[in-house]
Amino acid sequence: MFSSKNEKKLNEMVNCSVCNTFVHESIIVKKSGKEYCSTECSNL
Ligand SMILES: [Zn+2]
Repeated sequence: MFSSKNEKKLNEMVNCSVCNTFVHESIIVKKSGKEYCSTECSNL
């Protein structure tokens, strides 16, 4: 048994500019060229 497919492209984790939490790129908030884990951090 071994996996034949490499599906890592949809698993990008991004570091929040404010709280340093790692969040999935599908839920990050981009603002002013920076990336945040949530709208709360982007509004600080
Ligand atoms: Zn954050």
